[in-house]
Amino acid sequence: MNNHVLCQRARECLPGGVSHELRYREPYPIYFERAKGAEKWDVEGKRYIDFKLGAASQILGHAHPEIAEAVARQMTRMPYTADCHPLEVEWAEWLCRLFPSAERVRFAGSGTEATMLAFRLGRAHSGRDKVLRIDGHFHGWHDMLLKGSKPGTNSPPSLGVPQVVSNLAVVTQPDLQVISDALENDCEIGTIFVEASGANYGSVPLPEGFLSGIRELTSKTGHVLIFDEVITGLRWAPGGRQSRDGVTPDLTTLAKVATGGLPGGAVVGRADIMDLLSPGEMRDGLSPPVSHKGTFNAAPMVAAGAVKAMEILSTGDVQNHADAMANRLRDGFNKVFGDLEVEALAYGDSSTCHLYFGGTTIDGLDAAAIRRTSPQLVKGLRDGLLSRGVDFMSFTSCVTGLPHTPELIDEAVDHFRDTISDLIRDGVLL
Ligand code: PMP
Repeated sequence: MNNHVLCQRARECLPGGVSHELRYREPYPIYFERAKGAEKWDVEGKRYIDFKLGAASQILGHAHPEIAEAVARQMTRMPYTADCHPLEVEWAEWLCRLFPSAERVRFAGSGTEATMLAFRLGRAHSGRDKVLRIDGHFHGWHDMLLKGSKPGTNSPPSLGVPQVVSNLAVVTQPDLQVISDALENDCEIGTIFVEASGANYGSVPLPEGFLSGIRELTSKTGHVLIFDEVITGLRWAPGGRQSRDGVTPDLTTLAKVATGGLPGGAVVGRADIMDLLSPGEMRDGLSPPVSHKGTFNAAPMVAAGAVKAMEILSTGDVQNHADAMANRLRDGFNKVFGDLEVEALAYGDSSTCHLYFGGTTIDGLDAAAIRRTSPQLVKGLRDGLLSRGVDFMSFTSCVTGLPHTPELIDEAVDHFRDTISDLIRDGVLL
């Protein structure tokens, strides 16, 4: 099997040959068939150091033995019956212990589903239909929060999103005064969504004090404050960014690491809001007041892996190691930039590393400015790294995890140096 032939077959049955638009690549994508720890192998047997880690879901590394064992055991014991089961209770108890905002938990099918549900809860609780969301923050692919996910556009990056739905989203910069004015001017806004890391898992960091400031503001105004911790939950700290920074939102959306690196999602939050989902409650003649279904919510196989992941991740040791590895990676990349006299910056919070090629600082820049890298440079960087066996996430960003070692980081930095040298030689990078 080779990548090229697989792509030809794929393009006959999958639109563009892919199952997710970001996996598209010209002339063809790379098809992977095995992964272990921080490494993965493509169908041609080529090995890659992985800084994508399952779109940031596999902080424990690929095929972690304890997760694999827990899932395999559950597969033979009771894969899925669509009933209540003990593991969902145990998993929910873990999230309530770890996340300051979690008084109740409702599991969902993905991060996108979690944000859909959280917004419905926000509308139901506030009685207002509109949401305020921050420019460039990503909350999944559904209609309700798509407008503004591409920074600087104030529109949805997709056909097929009804204008009436987009009209329900107000997009602002992460500026407390601007947000306060927007809330005052538009009394239909009832809910506020914030990606807890800042846009794209922190490639656009939030201004200092923003999270505590917006908490203070919404505590006064009564708007429902939702932190999207799909990336940051259990990565920034066992209890997410909210526990690390000591700021408690009303609702939190989770997926990826919080679901043990398995398919799923969750909304956690204040009991009085979450209990709108309870069939024991009645509001306006409706019981439950907010309806939510989903065949695979809290599927036992996922719950088995997630509970095991909660046990391993609850001490914070894994996160500390991943942070140290990301630090080493950022230092290594910045040394390459310094040595090769490239005006660029490697930066990032927690276990992330982002690259900015417009100068040596991102201070004062908004999401649109930070994320404006030339397509030629992005492709050159990606192709150069892939040809040397290094895979990034989102092309100019990386995440690290438990299986990254100093040796793997240093090996990747060497490949990065060679790739940057080539880009200078070829005039792609000036
Ligand atoms: N919110 C954030 C912050 C995300 O990064 C993502 C996915 N990358 C989502 C929501 C959507 O999650 P999913 O892909 O599981 O639907």
